[in-house]
Amino acid sequence: MDASKILGNHQLRSTAIRRNVIEFILNEGAAVSHQDIEKALPQADRVTLYRTLATFEEKGILHQVLDDESVKKYALCGTDCGGGHHHDDHAHFKCEKCEETVCLDEVSIPAVGLPVGYSRTSANLLIMGTCRACA
Ligand SMILES: [Zn+2]
Ligand SMILES: [Zn+2]
Ligand SMILES: [Zn+2]
Repeated sequence: MDASKILGNHQLRSTAIRRNVIEFILNEGAAVSHQDIEKALPQADRVTLYRTLATFEEKGILHQVLDDESVKKYALCGTDCGGGHHHDDHAHFKCEKCEETVCLDEVSIPAVGLPVGYSRTSANLLIMGTCRACA
């Protein structure tokens, strides 16, 4: 997977900032915050960056990851996400040693019984612990 290919798959024009953001996240291999991206791409215009992230989320390239920090993080979507619909029903894992949060694509969020009258639109599952690299 490379950045141009991901953009092409989602019918997005390949601009430098779009490629740079995707490449950065691919290289990190973990969820990144807006600040991480700003730090990695100091030359990027803030407004453009903000719009780029919004577009990526809308088009199914990135999904939001909630971890125990109060900042929004983003991770790359699987290939079955597309414009307006996401299928990122997987758990996320936060390593307490290296503090990286990653997608566990193969671990789906189990169904939970909800009280009558409640319906689920999305769910988040964060598992804390030690990752393979730190074990
Ligand atoms: Zn997605
Ligand atoms: Zn770790
Ligand atoms: Zn994820």
